[in-house]
Amino acid sequence: MRKNSPKTFLLCGLVFLLGLFLSILLYKYVDETNNARKEKLLDENFNNTSHRIQNVIDYNLGTLYSLRAYYLSKGGFTRDQFTKFGSFYTDVFQSIQALEWVPVVPLDERGQFEASTRQEGFEDFEIFTRTENGRIVRAGERPVYYPVHYIHPFEGNEAAFGFDPGKSLPVRFEVINKAIETKGAAASTVLEIIQKKDPHKAILVFVPIYNEENELQGFVEGVFLIDQLLNSSLQGVDIDSQFSLEITSNSGSGELLFQNDTNENKSTLFKSGDLQLADRTWNLKLTYSENSSTQAINPLWYFAGSMIFTFLLVQLVYNTLTDNRRNLIRNLKELRQKNEDLEQYAYVASHDLQEPLHSLQSLVSLIEDDYKEKFDQTGLQYLAYLRESSERMSLLIKNLLNYSRIGRMEDPKQVDCNQVVANVKTELSCLITESKAEILIKNDLPTIAAYPQALHQLFQNLISNGIKFQPPGQKPAVRISYESDGVFKVKDNGIGIPEDAQEKVFVIFKRLHNSSKYKGTGVGLANCKKIVDLHKGNIWIESEERKGSAFCFTLNLDK
Ligand code: ADP
Repeated sequence: MRKNSPKTFLLCGLVFLLGLFLSILLYKYVDETNNARKEKLLDENFNNTSHRIQNVIDYNLGTLYSLRAYYLSKGGFTRDQFTKFGSFYTDVFQSIQALEWVPVVPLDERGQFEASTRQEGFEDFEIFTRTENGRIVRAGERPVYYPVHYIHPFEGNEAAFGFDPGKSLPVRFEVINKAIETKGAAASTVLEIIQKKDPHKAILVFVPIYNEENELQGFVEGVFLIDQLLNSSLQGVDIDSQFSLEITSNSGSGELLFQNDTNENKSTLFKSGDLQLADRTWNLKLTYSENSSTQAINPLWYFAGSMIFTFLLVQLVYNTLTDNRRNLIRNLKELRQKNEDLEQYAYVASHDLQEPLHSLQSLVSLIEDDYKEKFDQTGLQYLAYLRESSERMSLLIKNLLNYSRIGRMEDPKQVDCNQVVANVKTELSCLITESKAEILIKNDLPTIAAYPQALHQLFQNLISNGIKFQPPGQKPAVRISYESDGVFKVKDNGIGIPEDAQEKVFVIFKRLHNSSKYKGTGVGLANCKKIVDLHKGNIWIESEERKGSAFCFTLNLDK
């Protein structure tokens, strides 16, 4: 199996990490949105529920304040007036179990108070109390009595008529004392009262009445049924499906007053707040409870979906990259094969062409030697053309063969470039002397891994071009250097190469001048390009017309 490139894994890894990152972001976003939605819902429902309950509590208490206002505006009320006024409220509020008038009766007025009540038709009336063991007895002597005197509705609440809590029933007595102390409404803790045989949870609220001289006249008392009060508050509110509601009393042991749901599957998301009932507070707690119908889509599903998408994407990227890579390798192979074929073709062609060309040249020589006298002037001229053309063709074929042989016949090894340039100089000594050229190695050249003959040919071509392409009469100066950035330079002071031709000159047989001006076949620089390619390097020209050219190249066989 072909190995995959590290780039493929890197890119796939990056896509995976990006997908993972986005999936986590999506998870967080959905989770936060869900929570925000729940919190908003909880907030709205809590506010709605708590307002409703508080309103109903306030309306219930309002009956007592209305009775007090009535008492103060009229300077008192008769039993009849109390009943009429009270019935107005007890008809509307199911939670009012009873409204009562509890006057203050000093000890010295007790007899007259009992007598006048009996005269109203209540023959057995007396102020009574209950002993600790539950016995009903006539109230003993005490400075002041607080007997229940008016009751509405009377029916069902008769047992309270004339009852004075005294000290034997601490709950009522404490509330009365609290109302006196604070001169304001006071509520009891939750009591269990028996009405029509069913026990009910109720609270008692006493609102004291003072006259203009600030003397306590008595109390209006309300007996409020908790279940009725809360149920009427919650009528029409649909909280059951998503929330559980708990109301506890803040006093004592925090008694549970109401619970709409015993579902254990509650979330940690809740909101709580106080309800005010006279001088007492109740705690309202609304908890968000999950169930299958209200549950939002779990953010993990979004995460999982996004991760599946990421995996698919990674696979797609992986497949695309490996396909591309496979195609690239196949194309490269094909290209290499074609190049090899072409080189082979050029080699075979140039090699095989030499044979008939040789025969042609021999024949031309024979004709010249044996039939020279038989040719007139024109015939001799034609013969000279024939020789010239065959010689040029021979040169071209030789160069082409040479070109196709580059790198074929040798193996790379460490080569000292100084030595190579020295050899080239020796080989070109005739040309150098003839043209009075100056060849200079600017700084020491390195020893590198190279194909020795090819490297020799590279320097030879470039140096000889530097000597050759000079304006008439100029002394050539060629400088060879190796720069710190690993670039070889062969620089001359010749005619230069126009910018638009600087690439073209590396194409085989491409020449910028005709042979009469500068001799050549146009293969030299093509050879140079092929040699540099063989050494995994680059070659380029830096030149200014009429000022000279620098041929720059890199050789990277050992890198
Ligand atoms: P040849 O030298 O046989 O003409 P090359 O392939 O060596 O072929 O060069 C191709 C062409 O590039 C040349 O004909 C010439 O026009 C231009 N050339 C090459 N070297 C130089 C140089 N040092 N200065 C100016 N022109 C050059």
